[in-house]
Amino acid sequence: MLSEFSLIDKFFKNKTLPNAQTRLGIGDDCALLSIPSGYELAITTDTMVENVHFFPDANPAQLGHKLLAVNLSDLAAMGAKPLAVTLALTLPKVDENWLHEFSTGFLNLAQQHNVDLIGGDTTKGALTLTVQAMGLVPAGKALKRSNAQVGNLIFMSGFLGDAGLGLKIMQGQKFDAENALTRFHQPTPRIATGLALRDVANACIDISDGLVSDLGHILKQSGVGATVELEKLPLSNEVKNYLQQTGDWQMPLISGDDYELCFTVSPQNAHRIPENCTHIGFIDSQAGLRLKKDGQIQTFSAKGYEHFS
Ligand code: ADP
Ligand code: MG
Repeated sequence: MLSEFSLIDKFFKNKTLPNAQTRLGIGDDCALLSIPSGYELAITTDTMVENVHFFPDANPAQLGHKLLAVNLSDLAAMGAKPLAVTLALTLPKVDENWLHEFSTGFLNLAQQHNVDLIGGDTTKGALTLTVQAMGLVPAGKALKRSNAQVGNLIFMSGFLGDAGLGLKIMQGQKFDAENALTRFHQPTPRIATGLALRDVANACIDISDGLVSDLGHILKQSGVGATVELEKLPLSNEVKNYLQQTGDWQMPLISGDDYELCFTVSPQNAHRIPENCTHIGFIDSQAGLRLKKDGQIQTFSAKGYEHFS
C-alpha cells in the first residue's frame, strides 16, 4: 500500500503549473505565495463530507471537479482571480483507482483556471474533502455581500434550478434531464463573469444554498429588501418541464448547488453586465424578499439548506 508521502508524490506533487506568485509549493512545512502590490488575497475554504454533500458511491472524478468548483465559485463571487489552492484529504483507506480519478477531475479543472496546488494534508478517517482557495483582487475592489443599494437591479448568471432537479433525480425521482444531472455533479464556477463584474456590480454572492437563502444574505448584510419577479427567472427547458409536470414552482428558488452568481448593479451600470446574465428583480428599501408572480406577491415558506437545523 502507498505511504502518505508516496501518495502525495504520485497524485498531487508537481501536477499543476506554478505561477509567478508561487515561491514554494508542495514539500515543505508551508507553501509561500507572494502578493503583488496593489492586490488583496481573497481566501475561502469549503468542505465536502460523505453522506452530507455526496453519496457514498459518488464518481470520484466528478467529486474532484465539484470540490474545486465550489471553492473557485466563492472566489468568482468576490471578483477574485484564482491563484492557488491547498487540499486536505481524509480517506478511510488508500484506493489508488479512486485517487487517480479524483485527482484527474480536480487537476483538470485546476489547469483550466491556472490554479496551482501548493499544499495540503492527508489523514485517515471518514471520507472528508477540504479545499482552501486563494485568489487575487485589486485592493478595495472585492464584490462584497454588504454593498447592495436601494434602486439597484438584481441579476443572475446562467440558469436556476438545474442542480436542484439533478438532486431530485439522484434521490430517485423519475425524470429525463441529462443536463440537470451534469450541472449537479459538475458545476461551472463563473470565474470570467466574476472578473467582468469588478467595477460593475455593487454586491455579489454565489448561489450555493438556493436563491432565496443566498440573496437573503445580500439583503441582510446590506440592510435592504428586494422584489424578484418569478417570470424573469432564467430556467432551462428541463426545469420548465419539471415545473409544468409537478407545479413545484418553489423548487428553483430554494434548491442549491447551481453555483451561479447573483449580484446587484446600479441602473447606470446595467449596460455593462456580461451577456450570460438575466435581470430578475430590484433592490428596495422595505426589508425582506418579496416574490412576485403574475403581478401578485406570493406567500413563501420554504428555506434553503442549513446544516444543524
Ligand atoms: P506537515 O507534517 O508539515 O503538515 P505533511 O507531511 O502533512 O507536512 O505534508 C507534506 C507536504 O505535502 C506538505 O508540503 C503538504 O502541504 C503537502 N501535502 C500533504 N497532503 C497533500 C495533499 N492531499 N495535496 C497536496 N499537498 C499535500
Ligand atoms: Mg500535515
